[in-house]
Amino acid sequence: MAFWEDKKLGEMSRAEWESLCDGCARCCLIKLEDIDTGEIITSDVHCKLLDEKTCRCTNYPDRASLVPDCIALSPENVGRIKWMPLTCAYRRLAEGRPLAWWHPLISGDPDTVVAAGISILGRTVSETGVGADEYEDHAVDWPDIDPDDDLEGRGKRRQKREIGK
Ligand code: SF4
Ligand code: SF4
Repeated sequence: MAFWEDKKLGEMSRAEWESLCDGCARCCLIKLEDIDTGEIITSDVHCKLLDEKTCRCTNYPDRASLVPDCIALSPENVGRIKWMPLTCAYRRLAEGRPLAWWHPLISGDPDTVVAAGISILGRTVSETGVGADEYEDHAVDWPDIDPDDDLEGRGKRRQKREIGK
């Protein structure tokens, strides 16, 4: 049995935990929250530290000091972060769902994250080139490929505020 099927998130080694990240980088996008309804919408604007070509953080060790609203995922908080993508491997496992077919640990190929349309590769712009007053124009509806997903209502444009990355 694979470790992600055999262990709880809190029982995994550091290496096992890190290997769960599929590299989609969707958690590195600026999110918008409707101030009336609380609805969260993801933009196509990515964090200034993200490498657009690799979809990896360019300064992972120092990210907390360089980007204060970057949240370090943990077994304790992953189930409470409501803006984590439904496709995120950590969220899937925390909710008792299996890893998806595109996950590199299942497919054996990191490119399946891109092929499935989950990765943000080539589909975003850096926050360094976008003003905060332009964020609403960058609201997009990213695919949540899961039979249990409820996409109704996403992508609507209403008054929003930035809630960080
Ligand atoms: S959303 Fe989840 S799987 Fe994707 S990059 Fe972030 S932590 Fe990794
Ligand atoms: S600082 Fe955080 S949000 Fe920004 S690229 Fe690194 S991991 Fe992603």
